[in-house]
Amino acid sequence: MTVNKQIVLASRPEGAPVRENFNFVEAPLPEPEAGQVLVRTLYLSVDPYMRGRMKDTKSYAPPYALNEVIKGGTIGQVVESSEPNLRKGDLVTGMWGWQQYAAVNTGDLALIDTDEAPITAYLGALGLTGLTAYFGMEDIGKPKDGETVVVSGAAGAVGMIAGQIGKIVGAHVVGIAGSDEKCAYLKDKLGFDVVLNYKTEQDMSAAIEKACPNGVDVYFDNVGGDISDAVLRHINRNARIPLCGQISSYNLEKPDIGMRPQTLLLTNTALMKGFLLGDYTKSFKEGRAKLAKWIKEGKLQYEENIVEGFERTPEAFMGLFSGDNLGKQLVKVADPE
Ligand code: NDP
Repeated sequence: MTVNKQIVLASRPEGAPVRENFNFVEAPLPEPEAGQVLVRTLYLSVDPYMRGRMKDTKSYAPPYALNEVIKGGTIGQVVESSEPNLRKGDLVTGMWGWQQYAAVNTGDLALIDTDEAPITAYLGALGLTGLTAYFGMEDIGKPKDGETVVVSGAAGAVGMIAGQIGKIVGAHVVGIAGSDEKCAYLKDKLGFDVVLNYKTEQDMSAAIEKACPNGVDVYFDNVGGDISDAVLRHINRNARIPLCGQISSYNLEKPDIGMRPQTLLLTNTALMKGFLLGDYTKSFKEGRAKLAKWIKEGKLQYEENIVEGFERTPEAFMGLFSGDNLGKQLVKVADPE
């Protein structure tokens, strides 16, 4: 009998997530109801925002309940369907999360166009992270030819797309990442103009000043904390700061207030704006088409860090906080049939 292996949240992490926060359980194969199909997981996504949902605090997304399957971006293949709009064998993406099978409402699934890009791109460059970079830049950053763009978390899934969007429009792009290998990749393969390793730079503010001789026009912030404090000291008049993520604080038990940037924002008439990808769902089609076009034209590259095996999911998730990934972190669960 086929069983459905699942990963549930066993306890809420205190500080950095550890293996004991996750439990593997086995459930019977779900039986789809009317309006549902049975999907088999091929790839699943681990994302920093999931750490926020592991806390029992009010936020834009509800906390994960203890002992329930951890929900998140997933790609799978339909294995059983009596629904007219999806057939057995179809490749789909949805949010059924860390489990090998799920019965999912057809309305919660999007069909994958395999002519557009390899399927894994639907969890990365053409999925949540690529779209986040796109809308953060398109709607808030609005970089222009000749301006200076700084991206933190630059070697991650969102950051490397955001930086390349800066290059596409002709900006001087400075990336910040956590290892020399990541910095070399961004410079040599993706054409970033300057890349700074925040773990070895002695004085981030001085390094930013040197890397941005004309000041900072756009700061795409994925990490927050001391790195962002250093960048904000160098913003120009009318700078735009898309607040995408604050990963440096996700494992903190108490908030880290740090520098208060209001005076800098005021005197530079700068815009700092938080944004959530979920607010752009109506424009996903447009964003995905633009990203796919850039990929086809060779203007946009992406990297995926794929670990093999469902049982390695917690490890892949924990690795996000120690910088194990270059580009989008995924877990391969099975091959399509
Ligand atoms: P990444 O692929 O960038 O993976 C996380 C990376 O963050 C790590 O590889 C590591 O790289 C870096 N990192 C980890 N801890 C720290 C730290 N303490 N200080 C600085 N850097 C750290 O993840 P994503 O691209 O998926 O996400 C990037 C950011 O965007 C996250 O903050 C996430 O929450 C946010 N996000 C926001 C969305 C929205 O709707 N606003 C949607 C999706 C993501 P390194 O080796 O460089 O340290």
